Amino acid sequence: MPLNFRDTSIAFKAQSTRSLQRSKWIFFILSKSSLVRIGKGLTMVAFSLRIPINYLILKTVFKQFCGGQTVSDSKNVISKNWKYHVASILDYSVEGQIDELGFDQTQKSIIETIDLAKNNSGVPLAVFKVTGLVKASLLEKVSSGMNLTKDDLASWEKGLERIDEILAHAYSLDVPIMIDAEESWIQSAVDDIARKGMELYNKKDVIVYNTIQCYKIGQLSLLKKNIDQSIKADYLYGVKLVRGAYMEKENSRSKKMGYRSPIQPSKYDTDKEFNECIKYVLKIIGSPAKKKGIGLIVGTHNEESTILAAKTLKNLGWENNEAPVWFAQLYGMSDNISFNLANNGYKTAKYLPFGPIKEVIPYLFRRAEENTSVEGQTGRELSLINQELLRRQEKKI
Ligand SMILES: Cc1cc2nc3c(=O)[nH]c(=O)nc-3n(C[C@H](O)[C@H](O)[C@H](O)COP(=O)(O)OP(=O)(O)OC[C@H]3O[C@@H](n4cnc5c(N)ncnc54)[C@H](O)[C@@H]3O)c2cc1C
Repeated sequence: MPLNFRDTSIAFKAQSTRSLQRSKWIFFILSKSSLVRIGKGLTMVAFSLRIPINYLILKTVFKQFCGGQTVSDSKNVISKNWKYHVASILDYSVEGQIDELGFDQTQKSIIETIDLAKNNSGVPLAVFKVTGLVKASLLEKVSSGMNLTKDDLASWEKGLERIDEILAHAYSLDVPIMIDAEESWIQSAVDDIARKGMELYNKKDVIVYNTIQCYKIGQLSLLKKNIDQSIKADYLYGVKLVRGAYMEKENSRSKKMGYRSPIQPSKYDTDKEFNECIKYVLKIIGSPAKKKGIGLIVGTHNEESTILAAKTLKNLGWENNEAPVWFAQLYGMSDNISFNLANNGYKTAKYLPFGPIKEVIPYLFRRAEENTSVEGQTGRELSLINQELLRRQEKKI
């Protein structure tokens, strides 16, 4: 059956009409940048005046984009999606931790997600951000080769220890784990951590996955270099390919500090790099007869790139449900891609953010701003939701 991302009866199978109506209003607001700005302002004011708005947030944007406040809270969404073979990747979305206590709490939550993945077939992978475990300022110092003070060194060692405990735990339970990519000025430290993790834990299976952001110039060459390095050093390479989430921040920092932006000159160039990277990894993965060597996760809401990956796999001789590739989208978005992929047998998962409501707010703002700025995405969501609501009305579902 060919992939049809317009089949809304499959796309929204897991959603009641009431929840679709809620999504419709949320995406309508997200389509208006002025409303997003006002909403953000009002939320900040309400929090600073201690006006209790948690319930309102919980029932609206939080419900749209998050699984729950804890791992256990998120189990409902996990099973709701898994009923239709869409898996979940629990993402502890508390951003901007700055003290050791916060880092320890993050580590605890990530370990909990690994334990859940071990025991729940609807959770095949785990994920974390290095900035949840080490200060971003320290990652920046390490990335730029600056000397570390004695205190810096102590918190660096502690951060590396936290990360190694997470990776060792994932390895001991055989749960693959992805390391998210972040801003370019901290990424070389993150890449080093990921490479060392792969060297240690990717001997037999791909446990550790790093992320490549194709909106940066030169990522295909980097990918080739990484793969060559893994072959020489005899470990298995795991990669999540994404376009990249920090474009505005990257561009404005480079402008302010007077260096050349690392971002591709246009969306066309990003798309080209992303698709070339997919083709390259799939070429290395090769046909089903070849020995498994690389793990790939395609993290995108882009329909063309998804179809390109699916077609390439077919041309290589893979059955949909046997292909050694995960497709992943964010929870609350692009159900037309996720549920139709899963319905065709592809391994498909949703990043499912969770965390205490107040601390997940920065993540929700990022999601809102991204939806507002990614041209066409919100419009696509809205028109598909409307199409499905109309279909249900006509069929009296
Ligand atoms: C499962 C999953 C995991 C993710 N993990 C990460 C991660 O670890 N790190 C991370 O940074 N992001 C991550 N993202 C977010 C991702 O990088 C994108 O921001 C988001 O998915 C939008 O890109 P797209 O491929 O879905 O689709 P599209 O809507 O086709 O592409 C939008 C993207 O194209 C790029 N772009 C847009 N305009 C231009 C321009 N003028 N010039 C150059 N490039 C442009 C930007 O990257 C923008 O986000 C993840 C996304 C998913 C679905």
